[in-house]
Amino acid sequence: MKAHTRETQATMTPEKSLQYLKEGNVRFQNNLKANRNLLEQVNDTSDGQFPFATILSCIDSRVSAELVFDQGLGDIFSVRIAGNFVNQDILGSMEFACKLAGTKLIVVLGHTACGAVKGACDDAKLGNLTDMLAKIKPAVKAVTEPKDASLRNSSNSDFVDNVSAKNVQLTIDRIVEESDVLAEMQTNGEIKIVGAMYDINTGAVNFYE
Ligand SMILES: [Zn+2]
Repeated sequence: MKAHTRETQATMTPEKSLQYLKEGNVRFQNNLKANRNLLEQVNDTSDGQFPFATILSCIDSRVSAELVFDQGLGDIFSVRIAGNFVNQDILGSMEFACKLAGTKLIVVLGHTACGAVKGACDDAKLGNLTDMLAKIKPAVKAVTEPKDASLRNSSNSDFVDNVSAKNVQLTIDRIVEESDVLAEMQTNGEIKIVGAMYDINTGAVNFYE
């Protein structure tokens, strides 16, 4: 498999980009990696990059976007932060990736059993982490079940995963609300913004469509 070029990037649409990622994740789940020579891709991408998707995911060591979607060099912009939320700097990075560098798809990729989400559920406090976890708290609040406070913590894995799913949804809402550039591109059909959840038990990505 070759690195993307200006020509191949120009043929990509939001739907085709999504299809590429879905197919890549199926290859990953079946341990059928596409045949690509990364060193050759270093050479092929040395004059420029023409990625087709931008993926916001967690720093979790088990959720590398390039690996779980079986992508090579020059294929995706990978934005990673614990708890996969957005702030102004990340929105700026996404605007660069879509408006200036031509990606057609933004994926907000959460994952099951997320440590950052668990920390937010437990109201964990530690140095700069305290303020960071506050960015995930709106998702904790937005998940209204169960009501019993003793069940609303990291020992309840269903609750944790529901908060992760809500966090993905709220993050997508924020992208559209806080980035006029990306909202306009979505309205014009130039990009699509989709949420997804990676299952750390199976390697499968479930897209929310
Ligand atoms: Zn995580």
